[in-house]
Amino acid sequence: MPNNYKHSFTTGKVILVGAGPGDPELLTRKAYKALQSATVLFVDDLVNPEIVELANPMARVVYVGKRGGCKSTPQAFIEKLMLAAVFEGENVVRLKGGDPFIFGRGGEEVEALQRHGITVDVINGITAGLAAVSSLNVPLTHREHAHGVVFVTGHAKTGAHAIDWRAMSAAAKQAKLTLVIYMGVSGVAHIAAGLLVGLPPDTPVAVVQNASLPSQRHVVCALENLRHCVTQNAMTSPSVIIVGEVFRGLMALNATPMVREAIG
Ligand code: SAH
Repeated sequence: MPNNYKHSFTTGKVILVGAGPGDPELLTRKAYKALQSATVLFVDDLVNPEIVELANPMARVVYVGKRGGCKSTPQAFIEKLMLAAVFEGENVVRLKGGDPFIFGRGGEEVEALQRHGITVDVINGITAGLAAVSSLNVPLTHREHAHGVVFVTGHAKTGAHAIDWRAMSAAAKQAKLTLVIYMGVSGVAHIAAGLLVGLPPDTPVAVVQNASLPSQRHVVCALENLRHCVTQNAMTSPSVIIVGEVFRGLMALNATPMVREAIG
């Protein structure tokens, strides 16, 4: 039978695989197939070890994240390692948390590899923000209260790349947008202060930590209490902060359990 699928290996190829938010059941079949056929995997932080275990047992696993012993492996070095592996004829999989193209520098890696004539395939993963809302049965868009979604980093605090939270809040209010903020918990005070300029103090916010994992926790509160809520409940990374009217109903319940049952 002819193989019409895109993700089989030929020489000189890297597959960028989205590992999803953590729950191995949320992997795509294509991701699973790629893990099985890899001879070497370059794995980021935040990828659930249970997902790495799904790889071919003969595959070499290289952890390239801060927690992987490489002490925040510089991006250029990761790219170099991948290139060397491709040129040695390995079947290279680059495994990234969530979706490879939502933050996590997937675009930079594609450019670097393509500059060296390497073919890159990308396999989507479920991004953390999407998994977070779905786990609470809340949509990101809603015909009445949310006409669009912004995925935004909370990490860029200063300089040319700083996010203008005031402008963001004005846009969110005017266009009825849900804001999904990644890497935002450590800068929550700054983010909340900016958002309060354009959004009402009672705007609902959810913070979801470890989305899709058995250790998932969440809190729902009004924007004016966000900073306090994050500190009080010790919400730490990895968490997403989701701001918008889609959480109005859940906020009204105000009795949301802090620890969610494992999916299964
Ligand atoms: N590519 C990833 C995002 C990488 S940036 C994706 O699509 O999900 C890393 C940030 O993602 C974390 O700081 C956190 O904000 C978020 N994140 C990743 N996994 C998460 C999880 N299981 N639960 C909540 N947030 C998560």
